[in-house]
Amino acid sequence: MSKVCSELYRNFFYKINGMTFEMSEFVSWVSEAIRDIAAVLNIGMCKETFTAPKTPFNVNGVNQSVVFYTSEEGYEDCPQTFNFRTGEGGGLEMVFCPKKSHIWNEEELEDIKFIAENLFIIGGRVQMLSVMKRVSITDIGTGTSNMNGLFMHCQQLVNKKLFQNYDAVFINLKNFKFINRIVGERQADIILKSYARRLLSFVERDECIARPGGDNFCALIEKKRINEFLGFISNVVFEAELGGEKQKVTVNARAGVYEIKEDDTVNDAINASSTALNTAKITGRCDVLWFESDMLDRTIKANTISNIFPEALKNEEFVVYYQPKVSLDSNTLCGCEALTRWVKDGIVVSPADFIPVLEREGTICRLDFYTLDKVCADLKRWIENGLQPVRVSTNFSKLHLHNSDFADEIISTVKKYGIDPSYIEVELTESSGYEDYEALAEFVRKMKSYGISTSIDDFGTGYSSLNLLKDLDVDIIKLDKSFLDNLGDEKKTDEVVIRNIVNMVNELDMQVVAEGVETNVQADLLENFKCSMAQGYLFDKPLPCSEFEERLKGSKTYINLRN
Ligand code: C2E
Ligand code: CA
Ligand code: CA
Repeated sequence: MSKVCSELYRNFFYKINGMTFEMSEFVSWVSEAIRDIAAVLNIGMCKETFTAPKTPFNVNGVNQSVVFYTSEEGYEDCPQTFNFRTGEGGGLEMVFCPKKSHIWNEEELEDIKFIAENLFIIGGRVQMLSVMKRVSITDIGTGTSNMNGLFMHCQQLVNKKLFQNYDAVFINLKNFKFINRIVGERQADIILKSYARRLLSFVERDECIARPGGDNFCALIEKKRINEFLGFISNVVFEAELGGEKQKVTVNARAGVYEIKEDDTVNDAINASSTALNTAKITGRCDVLWFESDMLDRTIKANTISNIFPEALKNEEFVVYYQPKVSLDSNTLCGCEALTRWVKDGIVVSPADFIPVLEREGTICRLDFYTLDKVCADLKRWIENGLQPVRVSTNFSKLHLHNSDFADEIISTVKKYGIDPSYIEVELTESSGYEDYEALAEFVRKMKSYGISTSIDDFGTGYSSLNLLKDLDVDIIKLDKSFLDNLGDEKKTDEVVIRNIVNMVNELDMQVVAEGVETNVQADLLENFKCSMAQGYLFDKPLPCSEFEERLKGSKTYINLRN
């Protein structure tokens, strides 16, 4: 270092040696510092190009050039180039040119080299600090922000009073467990990363994507772009390898959305979007749900339900109703479904209000066995009283499939009451897909070998295909009510679908029960399609036990309701 320049250098390093995590801040310090020494060292131009490879913390990598200084008088095109390698496989190239009409002597060249080396060292430290910061706010699995990053980002917008220009979105992938199972964990991870990259490709300046964990994502999106974003998150098709072949995998998402207001805190926004998502999950009604204030009441109600459930079960507050099933060709009672009601302080609470809560908590399993117990007790009493019972189906949550004793517990309950197993039918819903396919198949086999029938409930609302069903050996398919809603319309689409399902099911030697039959038009069409049984308000609503006993005692015919 030349003695003449020593004070100048001291100032130079003083300027660039501050503490920062931001490369952009460092760049502005360097620009200013070089401007100050340019005249003494006859610098006409100084720039650097920084490259870094893609890493989990920097999904796109870096390739960035910055011109720190250009003299107004121009510069000679005889660059001095210095190349440095960085640890993670990237590099830094620094280029200096002398000012117009100047050629650097040996001593000046030594000084330029010294400046370049020190810029590399100090810049490297800033680079490291900025990587550390990025690590602390990045989700390693996908390269999005983590929740820490999202909170920091949002807080900056709150401070600038810009937060209310955005909406908060909480996203959960709908069928990810299923995908995991089908394509395997390694490919599912790749799909999750690709999905994250798709979300990141949407965001513009000051929007943010974060991953709280698992198959969940949070997003902060400008209000004017929110609808476009919500259309962007579902129906995303990826390719995966299955058994050596490329297969298309579609990822769908559920989202809770919260419209951020002026005085909202970051926590308010994230919690509200999460509440909306939970409500969407519980009700299953639609995939995108905007937050409404009564959702919080419902959450509180849900908490109350789970708190008082054990006591209510002990007090036998749950009562079984029976809804008749009718044979469509003979119009006679041929079976029934047990549906549970909660009689709380004299008020009958519908299952829609408590089943989803218990299902989420897992306590539904206790209720299901309680119901089976009551059904067996009723059957035993009917038989003892000389009534001719019909087969009773009871609903079991698919959560039971995780319990390896599920089948044995059903069998031992039925044995305990000495009931002929042919009077019992177990309904399992298919709506959550076939994650538990093998457990389900094993369960169905065990039921069949003991003589208990099985049925697939809400058929047509989930991922089932008749192909899978034919290997399952279930006895009955319960066609979801949604198929019937447009039956008899001008458009015959549903008719074609139902006719084909019924045909195929009949050919596979199973039976179809149509659920939610409300009109004679529906009943007539179903009868024409050779659908064997129907259940719905046209015939009977779910009846309290004593009323259902009257049906068992009577002629069991519904002919007068058909016209
Ligand atoms: P689900 O098994 O699909 O039962 C049929 C539902 O449709 C019943 O509602 C029934 O009242 C209703 N329904 C029957 N016919 C008609 C009709 O013609 N029109 C209309 N609009 N609806 C009709 P419910 O009793 O409110 O039960 C709702 C759901 O709660 C059931 O749906 C079932 O999934 C669940 N559930 C009820 N009891 C139990 C139980 O003990 N265990 C489990 N795991 N789930 C239960
Ligand atoms: Ca059912
Ligand atoms: Ca059903």
